[in-house]
Amino acid sequence: MSILSWIEDQRKLKLLNAPKYNQPESDNSQGLWTRCDHCGVILYIKHLKENQRVCFGCGSHLQMNSIERIENLIDAGTWRPFDETVSPCDPLEFRDQKQYTERLKEAQERTGLQDAIQTGTGLLDGIPVALGVMDFNFMGGSMGSVVGEKITRLIEYATQEGLVLILICASGGARMQEGILSLMQMAKISGALHIHQNCAKLLYISVLTSPTTGGVTASFAMLGDLIFAEPKALIGFAGRRVIEQTLQEQLPDDFQTAEYLLHHGLLDLIVPRSFLKQALSETITLYKEAPLKVRGEIPYGERGPLTKVDEEQLRRFLKNKENLTDSEFVKDFELLINQLDSKTKNQALNSMLLDQALKMACAEQTRTNWLQSKSKTFKISSVFGKKQLQH
Ligand SMILES: [Zn+2]
Repeated sequence: MSILSWIEDQRKLKLLNAPKYNQPESDNSQGLWTRCDHCGVILYIKHLKENQRVCFGCGSHLQMNSIERIENLIDAGTWRPFDETVSPCDPLEFRDQKQYTERLKEAQERTGLQDAIQTGTGLLDGIPVALGVMDFNFMGGSMGSVVGEKITRLIEYATQEGLVLILICASGGARMQEGILSLMQMAKISGALHIHQNCAKLLYISVLTSPTTGGVTASFAMLGDLIFAEPKALIGFAGRRVIEQTLQEQLPDDFQTAEYLLHHGLLDLIVPRSFLKQALSETITLYKEAPLKVRGEIPYGERGPLTKVDEEQLRRFLKNKENLTDSEFVKDFELLINQLDSKTKNQALNSMLLDQALKMACAEQTRTNWLQSKSKTFKISSVFGKKQLQH
């Protein structure tokens, strides 16, 4: 046995034999006790959890993970998560001290999440809402392509179903390991939010927790119809040191805190964690009961069965052997489209095909309805004849 492995063994033995209360000071997530970062008071984790991770000594709001937040906000047994299996990949094969894939694997094992956000629907005091909660424990809550995609899908679902959208932000910004792909999410989410807020005229509330910085602040965090924040939360775009060095000026002590931003008109409300659920439910109730609301409309092209569940259902419906006529119908339609793409010399035939395709595509309101209803009565093979399709 080498001396190093002996030391390692002794260390493990010591940890095993040590009484429980010695451990947690080194690690906040394990053991029975933890210490407040602000006032240094030792806190019993069980009581701290019951108090929604608000320090008993100084009242500061400690870091909370996404599972606890969902438990606190959503009525028990009503949470329905979305896209739980969407997981990140490493398109740039990025490497700093560690390979990006290794970092991901480590974070996934530690948190039990696929990426730094959980999305889904649930009841908040009996009101159905679409909720997204970022998790700072997963690589600093950084926004990669998975976070962006999950938020976008959640927004699109909320828009289709007419739900109120709530996003709880806790992030260090865009994920540098995914480069431009993570920066692109800012525009994608903003685009989906535009349709949700300005076209469908639905409510979006963003809740900023400590810390909310970088690309998240620059996109959906600041786009809320109402922006709530937790007391003393750190909210900003660039870091304090960067701004000070750029401006060559001393910044005030409370710069980039929730209170400072509220004073300067960037936030609507600062809500302590224990009142957050109540504040949200009262706000939504007020919004729902408001008279003379403008009726929104989703523009053409954004409408239709966008949700992945619908798409999957349709795919399975078509794969089923009992529905052979439907899958033949889809094949025929694809063939028709391919024919249109390939350059046919006969312009008249081309325009006729186009007319037929358009009629088929636009007859019903949604793609699912259209496929399911049309296929029963309408067969394009017989309409066009094999002659043209073989060409
Ligand atoms: Zn404290």
